[in-house]
Amino acid sequence: MRRLGLIGGMSAESTTTYYQLLNQGVRARLGGLHSAELLLWSVDFAPIAQLQAAGDWARAGAQLAQAAHVLERAGAEAVLICANTMHLEADEVAAAISVPLIHIGDATAQALTALEVKRPLLLATRFTMEETFYRDRLEHYGLEPMIPGEGARERLHAIIYDELCQGVIDVGSRTAVMAIIERGRAEGADSVIFGCTELGLLLEADAVGLPVVDSALAHVNAALAFALADQSPQGRAATPNR
Ligand code: GLU
Repeated sequence: MRRLGLIGGMSAESTTTYYQLLNQGVRARLGGLHSAELLLWSVDFAPIAQLQAAGDWARAGAQLAQAAHVLERAGAEAVLICANTMHLEADEVAAAISVPLIHIGDATAQALTALEVKRPLLLATRFTMEETFYRDRLEHYGLEPMIPGEGARERLHAIIYDELCQGVIDVGSRTAVMAIIERGRAEGADSVIFGCTELGLLLEADAVGLPVVDSALAHVNAALAFALADQSPQGRAATPNR
């Protein structure tokens, strides 16, 4: 099994999901007492979020690049940034290491492609929806991502930072996001991306009514494929669900 290096804490709520699903995935594949070989660098999210809000992406990216470098030196054979938004600095992080950076956008795009959908509605932080870094990555795979309107983007952003990243699950917010999805479907979306690693904590993919790719799950599955590439299967397939 290959050792993974996780840059987590963005937020800690979804890093817990990564830790759980990676371990469940390895056990499902190898059985018994097997669990994931991994290293976790979990940041204090508050100063990172401040840098994001200030638009100081370079400084935030430099901190993640430093974390990635340390993870590699400690023995990580691939690195994951356990969030979508900070992939805005993915190139800088990848440049700081000589092992692969498993990109959440690639994992998400590949999962969408496997579902044979074309026009996914991207639900994420304002940064991920509005900057081009993420949509460009999806378009590279022939996808045509849509984003919600201005008011909906603002609401989603607030739900993510003020609630989900702080461990708050609010029924009213769930209803609001479902309404955003409904509008997206009426405007032509054929699928939905949970493009924030906390959204799966709020919404049940099965209840959405359109095919869903949860970026956190897609990322975990890509990491499991990397970690277990040299293992012969003994248990069930490594396809965990939340
Ligand atoms: N975890 C989130 C994401 O996937 C949002 C928090 C962040 O800005 O990193 O983008």
